[in-house]
Amino acid sequence: TYVIGAACVDVMDRACVDECPADCIYVGERMAYINPEECIDCSACEPVCPVEAITMEDEVAPDQTEFVAENARFFATV
Ligand code: SF4
Repeated sequence: TYVIGAACVDVMDRACVDECPADCIYVGERMAYINPEECIDCSACEPVCPVEAITMEDEVAPDQTEFVAENARFFATV
């Protein structure tokens, strides 16, 4: 799955939402989240993000790992 990190906070450009063929990117109050259950790993969202907030889960930087759980948590509570 792909994960949206800190760069998205208070930006929420939404370019990724339009690009995602699985419609699995959801916009919350301060950032967008990718539903790990629905993401098909197509990578279409990654290059369109103007702030480069989207990363493959395996390649999330050490200081961004909390967002892996944060993305999953968002979908567990809706
Ligand atoms: Fe959507 Fe593809 Fe990005 Fe997954 S990798 S969130 S399916 S655009």
